[in-house]
Amino acid sequence: MVFESRLRKDADGEIGRGRTDSICLEIKRLESQVDFEIMRGPIRKAGSKQGLRALPKISRRKKLIEVYKRKKEEERIIPLHAYQMQQNWIKWSPLLGRGMEKSIEWGKIMTKLSARLVKFMMNGRQNTLPSPDNLKRWNVKAGKEFKCGLCSQTFVTAAHILAGCPYVINKENKAPGTDRYTWRHNSVLSVIRKHLKKKIQQVNSSVKKAPRKKEIIFVKEGQKLKQRPEAQKPLGMLDKAQDLEYDFDLPAERKRSYQMHQKVCATTFIPDGYLVSHVEKKCVVIELTCPMEERMDYWHLLKKNKYQEELTSDVYSIYYLIVEVGARGVLPITLRKEMRKMGLSKKEANSVVEECKLMATRCSFVIWCQRFNPEFTATEMKI
Ligand SMILES: [Zn+2]
Repeated sequence: MVFESRLRKDADGEIGRGRTDSICLEIKRLESQVDFEIMRGPIRKAGSKQGLRALPKISRRKKLIEVYKRKKEEERIIPLHAYQMQQNWIKWSPLLGRGMEKSIEWGKIMTKLSARLVKFMMNGRQNTLPSPDNLKRWNVKAGKEFKCGLCSQTFVTAAHILAGCPYVINKENKAPGTDRYTWRHNSVLSVIRKHLKKKIQQVNSSVKKAPRKKEIIFVKEGQKLKQRPEAQKPLGMLDKAQDLEYDFDLPAERKRSYQMHQKVCATTFIPDGYLVSHVEKKCVVIELTCPMEERMDYWHLLKKNKYQEELTSDVYSIYYLIVEVGARGVLPITLRKEMRKMGLSKKEANSVVEECKLMATRCSFVIWCQRFNPEFTATEMKI
């Protein structure tokens, strides 16, 4: 009753001096959206069984709140597109679709990482690091020329420092020792290696079982089924082989020089790593790139084409595992998908992704901190 009478007054324009809208009018608008959504019914995703599953019923009040939250989230995101500098993350951040409060990542960022690393991560993703170009933009010490600490170019971007400085690519790269970009790449690769090695050891030592027939389990009257028989895991690409060999291009751990397995493909081409089964005649070629997030698609296509051209075999079937881990710790879904294809469980694949993210961010933070130091020493990073 109160609502109805307030609504009538608000609709007549009695919403108070200085106000342009009222709560009652807002609720009325949301209600019409709710009415429409109830009439339309829920949107179901594609899939064979989707139409058969009953959806939870929610009250009108909850539905109204849900519609309101969605509207507010849209209002928050839309103006971001108008920004020139700080909206890059919209293109590659996985947070956008899920909303910040649902993201597991946020919880971990806030509780597990140090304050300095979080600060770097946030500023890096929003393009607000104190890089020479930003210092000029912010008019810090007007008239001063801010330079890259390594190559002396003026007003360079954070992307230049984190992944594109010619000093590192051309000079440090040729010097003895590992240059900083390769060091970050190798650190992330060693995370992938650690997990794949574990999986390979499991596969090689496992006893092959004959596929179990479906059996009927009888349960006595009045009793309950104690334990469901464990579901058979789907086989990954490697699960059939038991003679897996592997090697990775990680100089820290090797005694002999690294090359592609010449039995598979005679080439001078050096991928980041490979797994091979001579019995199954299968080979997985691994290639990892750690570019800036904006360039991930570009690198993926480039590497894929290059590898498909260079690494071929008449005898072995080759699978190209080409993944990217962003320099600021953001990565596309590819890595998780590829790890699942290799036969890693959901939990294992998730921990590969999480560890790669953390490793890339930590290494980039070190690169950022060392931006004025031309004498970089690569130290081993462990998670
Ligand atoms: Zn530079």
